[in-house]
Amino acid sequence: MTRIHPLRLRLSNAYLLTGDHRPVLVDTGSPGDGQALESGCAAAGVNPRDLALILHTHVHSDHGGNTAEWARRAGCPVSHHAGDRELAARGHNGRLRSVGLRGRLMAPFFSGAAFPSFVADLPATDGQRLDAFGLAATVIYTPGHTRGSISLVLDSGDAIVGDLLMGGHLGGRIRPGKPNFHYFAEDAAEGMRSLDRVLATARGWLHVGHGGPLAHADVARWRAGQRPQSGSSNGQFRS
Ligand SMILES: [Zn+2]
Repeated sequence: MTRIHPLRLRLSNAYLLTGDHRPVLVDTGSPGDGQALESGCAAAGVNPRDLALILHTHVHSDHGGNTAEWARRAGCPVSHHAGDRELAARGHNGRLRSVGLRGRLMAPFFSGAAFPSFVADLPATDGQRLDAFGLAATVIYTPGHTRGSISLVLDSGDAIVGDLLMGGHLGGRIRPGKPNFHYFAEDAAEGMRSLDRVLATARGWLHVGHGGPLAHADVARWRAGQRPQSGSSNGQFRS
């Protein structure tokens, strides 16, 4: 049985997965989060050198910010979906497409964010099982927030979904259990289709990159309340 340890970092959540297998780290936070990652590992009884895999829900500065350094230290493979290869190679978020007014307000603060670039050892692919790493879990391809976003659905029913959704407001600081749009999405409509796949596959908690966790029933109710509105593809949902 795998246990999910949320590591609450400065701007985002990373997740440490432990159990009767070598630990797996999902996302690595922002540059400067190294010490907090270290403390999170220690609290879970994990030595970073024992990591079997560093997997990314997607490659933005607040999710892959320490990957270059941690992969070197852990000596373990790094994985993300090929759709985010350019982001990882560039080490820069680039220009972020905002969702709604909140996104437009936040975009100037995050669009320029840089991080040490890295290259994946393994592609994360739709339907990929992670049993080789001891994890009873399946990767599902959930693009929208970025081209290469994925979710990890554990056989227990819980899922780690990255920035497919956000919990609450102000990066999850207020009402973290309330489903909400993330500030940015390359294609918000595609993100909603990805969310539908997650809702059909996962049965338990949805662990997000900011705030959370989100109850499956709350997310399903929130999703049912979203009605496409006229306008651009990134502005058609209530946020
Ligand atoms: Zn992101």
